[in-house]
Amino acid sequence: MITMTAYRIEIDQEACVGDQLCCEIAPGTFRIGADGKTGVVNPEGDPPQDILSAAKSCRLDAITLYDTQTEKKVWPRL
Ligand code: SF4
Repeated sequence: MITMTAYRIEIDQEACVGDQLCCEIAPGTFRIGADGKTGVVNPEGDPPQDILSAAKSCRLDAITLYDTQTEKKVWPRL
């Protein structure tokens, strides 16, 4: 069976304030760096629904998710 990555993840490093909310919800995917900004350590590190919840938790909308199949933006919604 081939496992597909659900999301292509982009993080706006300028917008991220490093409060680590996303890291708490999806710790296998997001991790705070030495610079105090969150980065992606593994785009398949958590179930897709947890990655989506983590993105939704970001009050600054610093996390953008794209469907890897369609390249359509999943989050944030316009
Ligand atoms: S929730 Fe947003 S602001 Fe907070 S650490 Fe994650 S990306 Fe940065």
